[in-house]
Amino acid sequence: MPKAMSHDPKMQRKGSKLWIKDPLAILAAGAERGVVVQDGRITELVPANRQPASADIEIYDAGKHVVLPGLINTHHHFYQTLTRAVPAALDRELFPWLQALYPIWARLTPESLDLGMTLAMAELILSGCTTTTDHHYVFPAGLEEAIDIEVAAAGRLGLRVLLTRGSMNLSQRDGGLPPDSVVQDEDTILADSERVAARYHQPGDGAMVQIALAPCSPFSVTTSLMRSTADLASRLDVRLHTHLAETEDENRFCQELYNCRPLDYLEDCGWLNDRVWLAHGIHFNAGEIKRLARAGTTVSHCPCSNQVLASGTCPVCAMEDAGVRIGIGVDGSASNDGSNLMQEVRAAFLLQRSRYGVNKVGHCDALRWATKGSAACVGRTDIGEIAVGKMADLALFKLDELRFSGSGDPLAALVLCGAHRADRVMVGGSWIVESGAIPSLDLPGLMARHNAAAQALQSPR
Ligand SMILES: [Zn+2]
Repeated sequence: MPKAMSHDPKMQRKGSKLWIKDPLAILAAGAERGVVVQDGRITELVPANRQPASADIEIYDAGKHVVLPGLINTHHHFYQTLTRAVPAALDRELFPWLQALYPIWARLTPESLDLGMTLAMAELILSGCTTTTDHHYVFPAGLEEAIDIEVAAAGRLGLRVLLTRGSMNLSQRDGGLPPDSVVQDEDTILADSERVAARYHQPGDGAMVQIALAPCSPFSVTTSLMRSTADLASRLDVRLHTHLAETEDENRFCQELYNCRPLDYLEDCGWLNDRVWLAHGIHFNAGEIKRLARAGTTVSHCPCSNQVLASGTCPVCAMEDAGVRIGIGVDGSASNDGSNLMQEVRAAFLLQRSRYGVNKVGHCDALRWATKGSAACVGRTDIGEIAVGKMADLALFKLDELRFSGSGDPLAALVLCGAHRADRVMVGGSWIVESGAIPSLDLPGLMARHNAAAQALQSPR
């Protein structure tokens, strides 16, 4: 008989087994009675009317929980939690929105960045996220160790991360969009990219920290830097990321500056391959979608950001039909303006259903984009799915809030009724959320300091 678990489940003892037992529902076939977790991985799915094969097992009773694979966020800018709903940037499209915010971002300090990043990750974790990317591309003087700061913050929270060393080197002086104060030169960018990859990137299965390289976008980076970054990523065997096909403005910019469309430019820079995942991917035509599929390039769909900035709608189903893998991203908190990944699943479901209809988009499609699809974007096969051998990254939701009362199908209820806060979250076999809270974090204290830092950034004396 399995023994009941005496409760300090944060860290499993090496070799010990935990049965997450009898969930209300679970997004996995053949796991009706739950899953067994050992040494950070899922070691067994327990089908209906069966017991775990393993003896000597601890039990977590999940009778009130809906269990999902941990959600994976494929696009974000953590620091932007410090500039949500900034009055000067309200009601603007991408280019003027960026121009309103660059001068504020130029004032970031290591302390404010740490607070912004920690808060973004806390918000993600509490929404059921177990792996996130971050695209950090703002490196004003004094912020040279931005990636080091976020590696430390992610480690404190226990979140699995793929952090990108972003970059901008094309300022207004050279025909780009950002001011001089937020860009760096190519040599500095490449040297630091190599430094952070050597220091932090863990290759292979089970990695908690990975590094990717991420020039910001065609309108803020030189062709030379795009090419040299692709070469460096290939040499270091790390992934590549950038914004692409987000707006019509970007199409015009590419036509004027490079005399081609954004995807042609990307290919010309050596970026059309399976090392690359792209944020947004809204303005691709049918021929371009086929080229993406052939290349194995993946796309991060960011529905809230695209709606806030009125950038257009990503053709998710057309891309999937053509063979392009799609993940979900919350995008920067200054354009979303939230970092809630479960809400983003609902947003993707609503936006894509309104575009493609009820027969084409269901709640399970949106959940798949945010799990298996997102795993493809971050280039991993060990996460994004509840299956034997995968990492034990799980998000458990309760349906005991007002919004769920009277609901029928528990998995559909998460998406349709608007789940937004996980009750428990597990990363690599360790609980990082219990009873809807992050035990290691003083959230009210963090919010007070974060608010003060945001105010200082937005209204300097
Ligand atoms: Zn973005």
